[in-house]
Amino acid sequence: MSKTRFIGPWRRRFQWVTTLLLLVLPWLEVDGKSLLRIDIPGLNLYLFGQILRIEELYLVLLATLIFVLSFLLITVVLGRVWCGWLCPQTTLSDVAEWAARFLGLKVQRNSLHGPLRGKILLQLVYLFLAFLVASNLLWYFIQPRLFFARLVTFDLHYAAWITFIVTGLLVYLDLAAVRRLICSDFCPYGRVQTAIVDKATLTLHLPDAELERCIECGSCVRNCPMEIDIRHGYQVECTNCGRCLDACRQVMAKRSEPGLIRYTFGLHGEGARGLLNPRVLLPGVAMLVLAVVLLVALVGRPVASLKVSVSHTAAARQLADGRIGTFFNAWVNNRSQETADYTLQARKKESGASLPIKGQVRAELSAGENRRLDFVLVTPANESLTVEFVLTGEEGLELSTAEAYIGKIEEE
Ligand code: SF4
Ligand code: SF4
Repeated sequence: MSKTRFIGPWRRRFQWVTTLLLLVLPWLEVDGKSLLRIDIPGLNLYLFGQILRIEELYLVLLATLIFVLSFLLITVVLGRVWCGWLCPQTTLSDVAEWAARFLGLKVQRNSLHGPLRGKILLQLVYLFLAFLVASNLLWYFIQPRLFFARLVTFDLHYAAWITFIVTGLLVYLDLAAVRRLICSDFCPYGRVQTAIVDKATLTLHLPDAELERCIECGSCVRNCPMEIDIRHGYQVECTNCGRCLDACRQVMAKRSEPGLIRYTFGLHGEGARGLLNPRVLLPGVAMLVLAVVLLVALVGRPVASLKVSVSHTAAARQLADGRIGTFFNAWVNNRSQETADYTLQARKKESGASLPIKGQVRAELSAGENRRLDFVLVTPANESLTVEFVLTGEEGLELSTAEAYIGKIEEE
């Protein structure tokens, strides 16, 4: 007889891997830069080796759109797999209930039964988990080492404190009082999934044809954390955790029979091929196209950017030799992964003749740094012209340009 295969261990491994990934990702760095972090003060997004500035938000929107489409696709193809295998809420509830059982408590109808000592110790576990989740969230905004250094010295920004305390409190209340009720009563995902499901979506169920083999042992119901009976068909509370499937396989293995409950593509034997329809293929193709666009945009983005504007704090003035000095501010952004030297030059757009500029025209910027440079452009008197500013890198390579219009200053 073949060995009974259970999906529980695979599901737990998957939860471990995704949870560790969530926890470890903010700690990982490439050349001293976070792999994934939103730097609010610097208005940068560290995205897997790329540093995106706020003005490159379209790339973030593109990435978000891809994420939304992939989520939609996972839902249409794999059904409620998100709930049982990936959702952090399910993982937290699983960990909380595992800890409760470890401390000798019984979890029944979402409430705990057992010795007071176990219940008190469990509150400490909840507090630790709440602290971990709230910290983990903030690590995506503040480098983890910096976060801990500022936490112990009470030196976090007030917005970070509010986020930390509110998140910690919500997670603690969730673990202590809500847990599975979030899935059954509050989370809208189950309802949305029901609306967008395809006829061939992967579904965990008990096929009608198998019902007659059911020995009414009730093991599937006893093992269901949502306390539902899968024999009554699809229910919105079901998180597709697969515990009932394993329970049934275990029971039926003793009778040398296969389990009754299973994952199938479609409820009526449609099979995975049933997913080859426009409802699945269209978002799939859209997602692939957007992914290619994003990749091309990321690879082709310039390694530095330049923005120039006339200073609002200093007016243009006539110099002793009659020429005009106009005060400018330039914003230079090093989008590369390395420290780089930049030089700013100016020329007439029409003829290409160079124009003198004085002030901060050279700068060394670290990777991802955005810096303001102040300088004065000197132009001939009584001449209106379009000026092209050029940012050059090492070896005089032109990296970015910006334009400004200089009007005539009429003599009084
Ligand atoms: S019915 Fe089965 S898959 Fe659904 S929540 Fe209960 S145990 Fe998990
Ligand atoms: S575990 Fe299987 S055999 Fe037992 S009641 Fe559930 S479906 Fe029927």
